Amino acid sequence: METSGCGFLIVGAGHAGSELALAARQGGLAGRIVLLGEESALPYQRPPLSKDFLCGKADEQALALRPASAYDAAQIELRQGARVERIDRAEKVVTLVDGTRLRYEKLALCTGGRPRPLVCEGMPAQGVASNLFYLRTLADAEAMRQKIQTGTRVVIVGGGYVGLEVAASARSLGAEVTVIEAQPRVLARVAGEAVSRFYESVHCEQGVSILTGVGIASVESEAGRIRAVNCSDGTRLPLDVLVAGIGMLPNTEAARAAGLAEEGGIPVDDLARTADPDIVAAGDCTLQRHPLYGPQMRIESVPNALEQARAAASWLCGKPKPNASVPWFWSDQYDLKLQMAGLSQGYDDCVLRGLPATRSFCAFYLRAGRLIAVDAVNRPGDFMAARRALAQQPPVDAAGLGDESVPLKELLAPAALVTGKP
Ligand SMILES: Cc1cc2nc3c(=O)[nH]c(=O)nc-3n(C[C@H](O)[C@H](O)[C@H](O)COP(=O)(O)OP(=O)(O)OC[C@H]3O[C@@H](n4cnc5c(N)ncnc54)[C@H](O)[C@@H]3O)c2cc1C
Repeated sequence: METSGCGFLIVGAGHAGSELALAARQGGLAGRIVLLGEESALPYQRPPLSKDFLCGKADEQALALRPASAYDAAQIELRQGARVERIDRAEKVVTLVDGTRLRYEKLALCTGGRPRPLVCEGMPAQGVASNLFYLRTLADAEAMRQKIQTGTRVVIVGGGYVGLEVAASARSLGAEVTVIEAQPRVLARVAGEAVSRFYESVHCEQGVSILTGVGIASVESEAGRIRAVNCSDGTRLPLDVLVAGIGMLPNTEAARAAGLAEEGGIPVDDLARTADPDIVAAGDCTLQRHPLYGPQMRIESVPNALEQARAAASWLCGKPKPNASVPWFWSDQYDLKLQMAGLSQGYDDCVLRGLPATRSFCAFYLRAGRLIAVDAVNRPGDFMAARRALAQQPPVDAAGLGDESVPLKELLAPAALVTGKP
């Protein structure tokens, strides 16, 4: 096959890839920019897949990150249905699944991830069943949406964000929903106990049945369809639809074969540079050592994908601007907007501001007297103030945080940050 050349080649046309292509052009990168994506849709937003799209409140057009004309106007060649199989770093060539070879000067890997498969006794061959669904792509969401309606018995494995959002959406469609979570509480990996308990109670009020501290012992299947799951506590749950929301695995096969990735992802620095000076990487496929939060980790969120993409573009354009942004995330369930900033792992104190019963409160996480993270439910103003302050991980007055008569602005104002007092 002929090898054609291009300047900047981006593998993966999701949140990170699309942003990187545009940011590089806007930052002044000249020459060809080619954006390769294996999916056939225009690059789209993934968060609505478990929310408005699954409920039927948004259609495919509403999901596009930007119109096709935006890529044309920036002279970005968007190639859909183009999967990269191999990276040859010595030749600076990538090979697509159809054998096409493309030469690059600079390469970006923005390949995201795929759902972690559910493995248990009784699964049909290859782990494929006509009523077993995962949720990562538009095609996944379309297929799931078609199967959920009034009275559908939906069992969801995994009480993380995606599982709980699917539960809320399925309830809004009239389904009977059960969530199975192996940890003692939902959202255990990402939120404190008060927030977990609040979400459990909200889902219960909405008619969702939540089983915590329970795993899947086996599934019963017949003719390529799962009829029931048997839980580790002996509960048997007959079902129409089984959804697995048990995390993701990074798409790093080609990067690994090229010596750029390890088990958990592609290590990058704060300019999104990999170990190869001609290759950057951004988004869910990367591992980074965040300046505020220590060990090397994957930060799986849209804001992180965008910030890393912008940092990569700044470096490629010769105006390096390292990514030091505070990680943040959101989740929409029923009438609740949960916004989280910082990472709460390792906190030694959690202070609530406001009462969960009012459906509007914050959980502030502190370590050694310093603010390290916040979860805000229906409190966008407090969230923004805390998110800004988190860049410093300031010392804070825990009693003041819990006292709504003390304005948050005063507690987190620069003077207060120095002394730790309002
Ligand atoms: C259901 C759901 C709900 C979510 N909700 C939220 C939310 O509320 N807030 C939030 O911040 N985050 C949310 N996320 C996470 C967020 O969507 C991801 O963090 C974000 O999509 C990461 O962007 P990315 O560009 O790294 O990966 P992706 O958006 O996954 O894009 C990667 C792209 O690369 C393509 N690709 C992979 N391998 C190849 C290859 N070899 N060749 C060519 N193309 C390839 C993939 O097909 C994909 O299109 C949600 C995720 C899901 C699945």
